[in-house]
Amino acid sequence: MKILKLPKEKLDFFASVVQQFGEVHAPVEQDGQFVFKRLSRWSEARLDYNRTILPPKKYFLPQQQVLLRYRPEAGYVAEVQGLEQRLVLFGVHACDIYALNILDRVFAGKYPDPYYQARRRSIAIIGIDCRPDERCFCRSMRADAVEHGFDLFFHDLGDYYLTLVGTARGDDMVLATEPLFEAVDHTDIERYKQHSSAKRQAFSLEVEIRDLAEIVEMEYHSGMWEELGERCLSCGSCSMVCPTCYCFDVNDAVTLGSTAGSRIRSWDSCLFATHALVAGGHNFRDSRASRIKFRYYHKQRGFVAEYGRPSCVGCGRCIAACPVHIDITEVINQLRGVPDAGSK
Ligand code: SF4
Ligand code: SF4
Repeated sequence: MKILKLPKEKLDFFASVVQQFGEVHAPVEQDGQFVFKRLSRWSEARLDYNRTILPPKKYFLPQQQVLLRYRPEAGYVAEVQGLEQRLVLFGVHACDIYALNILDRVFAGKYPDPYYQARRRSIAIIGIDCRPDERCFCRSMRADAVEHGFDLFFHDLGDYYLTLVGTARGDDMVLATEPLFEAVDHTDIERYKQHSSAKRQAFSLEVEIRDLAEIVEMEYHSGMWEELGERCLSCGSCSMVCPTCYCFDVNDAVTLGSTAGSRIRSWDSCLFATHALVAGGHNFRDSRASRIKFRYYHKQRGFVAEYGRPSCVGCGRCIAACPVHIDITEVINQLRGVPDAGSK
């Protein structure tokens, strides 16, 4: 991997040149929170953000997406509009890049999804490191650093960004802005190591995930699921904001009076009361307790069995979004029997 450095006073110029690789989207402040959106000017970008309300997932698996249209005379025609539109996502945190790498295993693995894969190809990612706040536990989830899944990744070392070049497209960005980046020397590497160590020590929230999958399995009949079910509103906010939740529903919207229509994929949530409702009226998870238990089982146990790691990156979004303050770290601690867990 190529490692360079970009002096901070050259960032604005870099951002202006990088537009040739696609429409630039970055975190922007909105009503005291942050959202990824198209920049109307570079000064809007807030690279010092903590977390966005929705993760970058929204660009790769849109909340609602027409998959195909059908008409009797034309048959089924895949909807490809917008799939090849080039974007540059500027300022993606390591945990969110890690989450995309997890989604890759789902949508680009055994059952490849051409819509997701097209967006993955056409969207460039420029990562940036961050400082954890009181809701971040990405270090515990081994997602505080990424080795791949980005084109460029910037580490803020004070007056410059230590820059990792992750792909040929990232290299092209460097070449297109040729005089801006500089070679690094041993001093820069030492500085990076100190920076990395300081970040590790900055985490105030931690959970232990070793043997968590086994503990989750052992606690299948625990009364805590009923207690959580009593509190949970089944609103689905936790899964909507989660960078690794990918449940979706597919519906046909048929044009009235014809056999033409479109097939639409929309976000779904395993917390919704109808998620496991099948034809005939049977609901496999008809209680709130069974649904919240399922979410924890899928993320912390089922995903581990299938993909070798939990499908949680510790971004803290579900903690911030839950209207009744269900906190994943408290649930994990309670499962583990950590003293005082669940007392908040
Ligand atoms: S479960 Fe919560 S903390 Fe984990 S990745 Fe999803 S939103 Fe982030
Ligand atoms: S955000 Fe909270 S209340 Fe809403 S479904 Fe998730 S756990 Fe339940």
